[in-house]
Amino acid sequence: MVSGDAAFDRGGDNTRIERVVIVGGGTAGWMTAAALAKTVPAHVKIVLIESEEIGTVGVGEATIPSIRTFNNILGLDEFDFIRYTHATYKLGIEFVDWNRLGERYFHPFGDHGRHTQEFKFLQLWLRLKSGYARGMCPDPGPISDYNLCSVAAARGRFLTTNGATSTPGPSLRYAFHFDASLYAKYLRRYAEGRGVTRIEGRIAGTDLRSDDGFISSVTLDDGRTIAADLFVDCSGFRGLLIEGHLNAGFESWSQFLPCDRAVAVGSEPLSDFPPYTRATADSAGWRWRIPLQHRVGNGYVFSSDHISQDEATARLLSQIEGKPINDPHLITFTAGHRRSMWVKNCVAIGLSGGFIEPLESTGIHLIQTGIAKLLLFFPDKRFAQANIDEFNVATLLEYEAVRDFIILHYCATERSDSSFWRERGAMVIPERLKARMSLFCSTGRIFRYQDELFTDDSWLAVMLGQGVTPKSYDPLVDKIPLPEIAKNVARLRQITAQVVDSMPSHRDFIRQYCGAA
Ligand code: FAD
Repeated sequence: MVSGDAAFDRGGDNTRIERVVIVGGGTAGWMTAAALAKTVPAHVKIVLIESEEIGTVGVGEATIPSIRTFNNILGLDEFDFIRYTHATYKLGIEFVDWNRLGERYFHPFGDHGRHTQEFKFLQLWLRLKSGYARGMCPDPGPISDYNLCSVAAARGRFLTTNGATSTPGPSLRYAFHFDASLYAKYLRRYAEGRGVTRIEGRIAGTDLRSDDGFISSVTLDDGRTIAADLFVDCSGFRGLLIEGHLNAGFESWSQFLPCDRAVAVGSEPLSDFPPYTRATADSAGWRWRIPLQHRVGNGYVFSSDHISQDEATARLLSQIEGKPINDPHLITFTAGHRRSMWVKNCVAIGLSGGFIEPLESTGIHLIQTGIAKLLLFFPDKRFAQANIDEFNVATLLEYEAVRDFIILHYCATERSDSSFWRERGAMVIPERLKARMSLFCSTGRIFRYQDELFTDDSWLAVMLGQGVTPKSYDPLVDKIPLPEIAKNVARLRQITAQVVDSMPSHRDFIRQYCGAA
């Protein structure tokens, strides 16, 4: 018997989750609190415990467009959010010195060109490049000329909603750079306004049930005990519950991603608010530049086997534009993930679950997808193992896909000017990434597995930028006459430039609609 009322197992009220404790009040903790406050039934009481004395990791300021979905689900007013968090808009990431010293490329959001029903735009562009090499058509120019975000970023332009963006041509996709501590405060106000209780204090211990090892409560160092049915561990790298008490285990990915430190410092704001993140490859890692309205976030992610902390700090300080506005601070980490991010009645979200270096700004996105999956598999008190297993499998696949995309930036390099880069060029890479690169090299094809974060357009931007070049194109494209492709593509390039012409500068847009500056 598999259907109908008789098959339905009515657990009854006594199996409902009534109390959730979130441990940690960083970006992960407050995003989780806000999302739960918005989505769970009113009978579920949500408590967040954080320790100001311990503090948060204090970085994590560049995002990808999915953050807008999160903010929209909460119903946040975008301009209000931008004002509060001193945010700027982000159209992509500029990569400097990654393939070779002196070279740069842009990984934009959104599509390159317009895909037809049969072909990806990349294939049309490759066909033209091949025709141009044989003197049969004009040079279509760089593929970035067909991406609205690339063109707008290069010219410092921005517009969210305007008739111009709905003219034929690719649409503008964007994310934000924001002050992470202000974002956490903003979400705190939101969550507390919807009934979340915040407790200030340091957790000193955890009580496990003797029969099944589930967490029954946490105890603060002043003796208070807080019980719950479900615990969300947002305690940062330490993984206070998931590792400290439930021993999930940690799978290191340092063989692929050896950077294990970052030094971060803020500097004076840039006058033109560039609408993009910059990632500059350096001798033992890379440096980020994240422009906010009131300051710039800068950092150097490096491998401690290849440069000392003092040298990395000196290098960062010598490279920032403008004066530093605080002392540099060091963060230590290992790339990798908990073997299980959901164990018994504890789910790890944020840095407590895993860490992949922030080269493509994926940390906050992984928090968001962790929350989405928690809601998708939201348990009752019986904690069906099938739910937990599915959550863990899906999370790991997601992390692995992000990891492979990050590795691509390192392995496809021609740099040999330092031991760090020589080792990267010779590194052993995951099989799936190897297969993907081979496929792209042959005919520019990209195969994505379901639900993967990075789109074909992201893969092609980084592959081409890193010098992974297709030898040929999809042979079926030959069915379209070359002059027809050349005409349509030239028109598209013109439209893209015209759309950007009609946009105000990013700085003016912010000033007019959502400026704190
Ligand atoms: P934390 O910020 O460390 O918060 C942990 C919380 O747990 C704190 O509130 C702390 O007080 C609390 N806590 C810990 N122990 C206890 C205890 N015993 N009792 C009570 N409370 C406790 N992501 C991006 O998306 N974009 C980026 O540009 C980006 N850049 C990054 C750069 C670096 C160098 C690093 C390391 C990460 C970056 N990330 C980025 C990732 C991003 O910073 C994190 O995903 C995000 O900040 C979430 O952190 P968290 O909330 O998990 O942990």
